[in-house]
Amino acid sequence: MSTAPLAAFTEPDRPKNLLIRFITVGGSYVDVTGPGEHSKENRWDCRGCGDSSDRPEEDYLFRIRPDANNHAAACRAIPLG
Ligand SMILES: [Zn+2]
Repeated sequence: MSTAPLAAFTEPDRPKNLLIRFITVGGSYVDVTGPGEHSKENRWDCRGCGDSSDRPEEDYLFRIRPDANNHAAACRAIPLG
């Protein structure tokens, strides 16, 4: 079975503070945004299902990165708008 996204969608504009963008299995995107590697004010937001980082809501990039990637690997919500 293919692990490619189920549908291809146009990539949204990239925000200025975008650090990493993961494509999800649903064909949406999880954006990691913030000041950068050495700041604890980074966060991730899923453009598919609306989920986002929590506990704490903002954190260092090395903590946010695997969480965002794991969400992208599991989320099957497609972009609606
Ligand atoms: Zn999601």
